[in-house]
Amino acid sequence: MKFGTKAIHAGAHPDPSTGAIMTPIYQTSTYVQEQPGKNKGYGYARGKNPTREALQENIAALENGKYCVCFSSGVAATDAVLKLLKSGDEVIAGNDLYGGTYRLFTKIYESFGIVFHFVDITKPENILPYINSKTKLIWAETPTNPTMQIVDIVECANIAKKNNLLFVVDNTFASPYLQNPLDLGADIVMHSVTKYLGGHSDVVMGALITNRAELHEKIYFILNSSGANPGPMDSFLVLRGIKTLHIRMERHCFNGKLIAEYLNKHPKIEKVYWPGFESHPNHDVAKKQMRGFGGMISIVLKEKSIENTFKVASSFKVFSLAESLGGVESLINHPATMTHAAIPKEEREKSGVVDSLLRLSVGIEDVEDLIADLEQALS
Ligand SMILES: *Cc1c(COP(=O)(O)O)cnc(C)c1O
Repeated sequence: MKFGTKAIHAGAHPDPSTGAIMTPIYQTSTYVQEQPGKNKGYGYARGKNPTREALQENIAALENGKYCVCFSSGVAATDAVLKLLKSGDEVIAGNDLYGGTYRLFTKIYESFGIVFHFVDITKPENILPYINSKTKLIWAETPTNPTMQIVDIVECANIAKKNNLLFVVDNTFASPYLQNPLDLGADIVMHSVTKYLGGHSDVVMGALITNRAELHEKIYFILNSSGANPGPMDSFLVLRGIKTLHIRMERHCFNGKLIAEYLNKHPKIEKVYWPGFESHPNHDVAKKQMRGFGGMISIVLKEKSIENTFKVASSFKVFSLAESLGGVESLINHPATMTHAAIPKEEREKSGVVDSLLRLSVGIEDVEDLIADLEQALS
């Protein structure tokens, strides 16, 4: 089946008791048992809930994966991956990561004795010097947030395989519509479902997808043991959101391209980060592994003062100043003080996250209105 058909039908089984076409919200914490230990496959809802299972089946299908486990947030999904490791293990991660991922790694897991190396993995050969007998995992995000660098998934997967390491890709920015890391050799795909999958800025959720049964068993064990499970109402909302994922992504890509090109010619803008430009340093890799370039764009203003950046960020009428991304509505974000405030200034400036950088999540409104809004805010 092709993508749009899967988005609408995968995981959707008419309710056996009524025939309801939409998966019901099974708002229950427990299930009645016929006799001790004999039930209909459901014991307690931290472990299993039919609404969540329908969603997991759907997301697995979109990522061409066999298994999916959903979590109460993207960060909880990342946390579950780290729980596959033990004290003394080492991780090699990209150096341009979602701020909350960096915070979880350095502020929580470093004190449990896990060692992290943050490396520019847009050049996969940079990974090699950091591999030793304690290395267990490579963590990549692509496109990266917010400077839209592209990591070659196939190259990293080859390095991981040769050295017997787990390779995890945070696929949040691309969404499964634009990129499927499992097909390119990743072991686990992580999503902040909060973003494009949910798509309507009304749910916080995460997911891990894999093709490997033994890895899935471990991930599910961690979900059930650590308890970061999402609720049935949220699962229903995401199932509903995903039905239009392919249509939304087409429009995000269409609007994103026109806006990136408009901004690239704008006299008040020094730099536009968007992987669709031929001049983008990893454009060829993006073309090879992605089916489109998406609606995430970052800009650096020519006038560098923080006062000017704040003034521009606060002048929009259609774009809303907010954290997050991937919803139907356009958002603008100031990473240095918002999403990436947890990263020390020196660290973030090394990866280009300067004070005059603004990140746009281009929504699916009429593009003429979005360009008019950028025009008035920049002037
Ligand atoms: C938002 C985000 C996360 C964290 O997900 P939450 O759902 O907010 O916990 C992780 N990675 C990326 C790329 C994100 O954008």
